Amino acid sequence: MKPRQILVTSALPYANGAIHLGHLVEYIQTDIWVRFQKLSGHECYYVCADDTHGTPIMLRAEKEGISPEALINRVHAEHSRDFKGFHVAFDNYYTTHSDETRHYSEEIYARLKKAGLIEVRTIEQYYDPVKEMFLPDRFIKGECPKCGAKDQYGDACESCGAAYAPTELVNPYSAVSGATPVLRESEHYFFRLSDARCQEFLRRYTQSAGPLGPVLQPEASNKMQEWLGAPGENKLTDWDISRDAPYFGFEIPGDEGKSTGKFFYVWLDAPIGYMGSFRNLCDRTGLDFDAFWGPASQAELYHFIGKDILYFHALFWPAELAHAGFRTPTKIFAHGFLTVDGAKMSKSRGTFITAESYLAQGLNPEWLRYYYAAKLNGSIEDIDLNLDDFVARVNSDLIGKYINIASRCAGFITKRFAGKLAEVKAEHMLAILGDGKLPDRVAQAFDDRDFSRALREIMAYADKANKFVNDQKPWELAKLAGREEELHQVCSLAINLFKSLTALLSPVLPSLAAEVEAFLGIARLTWADTRSILPAGHRINEYKHLMQRIEPKQIEALVLANRESLEPSAETPSQQRHAQHQQATEDKVQTSAQTSEPVISIDDFSKVDLRIVKIVAAAHVEGAEKLLKLTLALGEEPGAETRTVFAGIKSAYAPEALVGRLTIMVANLAPRKMKFGLSEGMVLAASDPDSPGLFLLSPDSGAVPGMRVK
Ligand SMILES: [Zn+2]
Repeated sequence: MKPRQILVTSALPYANGAIHLGHLVEYIQTDIWVRFQKLSGHECYYVCADDTHGTPIMLRAEKEGISPEALINRVHAEHSRDFKGFHVAFDNYYTTHSDETRHYSEEIYARLKKAGLIEVRTIEQYYDPVKEMFLPDRFIKGECPKCGAKDQYGDACESCGAAYAPTELVNPYSAVSGATPVLRESEHYFFRLSDARCQEFLRRYTQSAGPLGPVLQPEASNKMQEWLGAPGENKLTDWDISRDAPYFGFEIPGDEGKSTGKFFYVWLDAPIGYMGSFRNLCDRTGLDFDAFWGPASQAELYHFIGKDILYFHALFWPAELAHAGFRTPTKIFAHGFLTVDGAKMSKSRGTFITAESYLAQGLNPEWLRYYYAAKLNGSIEDIDLNLDDFVARVNSDLIGKYINIASRCAGFITKRFAGKLAEVKAEHMLAILGDGKLPDRVAQAFDDRDFSRALREIMAYADKANKFVNDQKPWELAKLAGREEELHQVCSLAINLFKSLTALLSPVLPSLAAEVEAFLGIARLTWADTRSILPAGHRINEYKHLMQRIEPKQIEALVLANRESLEPSAETPSQQRHAQHQQATEDKVQTSAQTSEPVISIDDFSKVDLRIVKIVAAAHVEGAEKLLKLTLALGEEPGAETRTVFAGIKSAYAPEALVGRLTIMVANLAPRKMKFGLSEGMVLAASDPDSPGLFLLSPDSGAVPGMRVK
């Protein structure tokens, strides 16, 4: 077999927040696949990087009072730590804020320009009149123009997956200030995706199949045809690849070194970061970059991505590469999202779990690797982390079936046979398994990314090995005189079965495999060891416990720890992708989504003095991230009583948009001393902890300030 040359990437995590269990689905999936290829003797490289550019990074650094470079360096260290903690072994983990990525961004841009695929146009773009900046797509929200879903970002819909221009959003608002954005003219640079060359190429590419199979999964290919439109119909629109200052990124070069004052949109340089990271690896190790990226490359190139970024990877990216003289991806592997206990990850339920908190709770990262592998089948379906099933499955499969084989047999080898194994014959192994083809089927399943099929095969193997041990009962043989040889034979066979199982599981459980190698006194396992047999007289080391069971209370503690991170002072990083949204919690705006609060009497309810109030003044509060200071009048007449309330509604409303509005307040709430002053009540707003948006209540017309609400 000729070793294949393979380059693999995972999507670049955005340098604006922590790695969480949702992200890890992709990195664990990719890592298992890469480890399998390496174990099989192929020349395989796995590269990734932090995605570091764009307005969210700029604004976050500004908020923290540090430079964007300082922010991305810190996040790089955090991400690297988390990946290492889950045994995700990149050959290079780099950053897009690098000379290499800048080089390839400029080169691709120059080549596309030369090919006549870049066009400069004056467009009208949304501008935030309060924050005084052009708003990037992710900072404008509104209703999806395609499916009507509410609170979608300006670039793509998380509900139907469509990509569009922010100006197409229905009822837009600024996510920075809450203001209604205004249109202003600006010059922008476009990649002409609607050009006949791009269209023709994409129609071919998205339905093509090389010798290794189709470029896209069937579901993804169908989605592409939908986006491309029927033959003869051109549904592709040109792609805006520039952004105005202020922006953290690479400036677009002008003619003869002149400044353009425009920056590459973060999505232009993010996939180019795959090339930048690989170039950096090549420069460090002497690998040939062109052998992997040049137009004549024979190497295989695979991108593992979430289904939400298919548009960028299956349309924009290959079209750019093809027309800039680079090779295109061999395959693009999309996966679904993670749900926890059947629902979207939720901060209020404690199921928005960060990689860091999982490890800090002392949970074994290989438990999660195993569980994800058991759920992943290579399709773009969502996968569910059911916490009860997680405990049951890991304990039953890994402890009850796999580890159990070694723990029941190794002690006899050490105590009775000085640690030395008896001769084991291949036909005896085969007789127990009844099937010599199993390692091949497991290999095929790993290669197909159908890890759940691979693990079903492996656990069927473990069941047979366990049945053998149960039938032979070494613990009874050990008590009988004259059965030494039989005991030696049974335990040696079991240890060999355990070694084969370990080799089969090693892409999923690399750290455990390393411990087993030390225990068995053997060299680094390869795929050949799924069949090899340890020679007679081979000496193993004393068995030490290899893996603990999961205790349900550990999972309870994990969920509790992540729920506690919702405390008002906690600053939880927002995510650009896999977006999960933060609720305003600095004041007591009711945010509970629970519908099953305890029953109260009418007398209890009557104790709450709810009043119609008029917002006569509203202002930002210096140093408060979520609060607005509201002055509320309890009457219409001049000199009517007013109250000051600090409300956590800054994310949803610009202060000037509130003045003059009527709303409802709790007028007899005990005054609360806050860092910024005394809050004399509370206004009511609706929200859902699991979806964005905050909605102040308004009375029907006719109500006047001071009226009681009952
Ligand atoms: Zn939509």
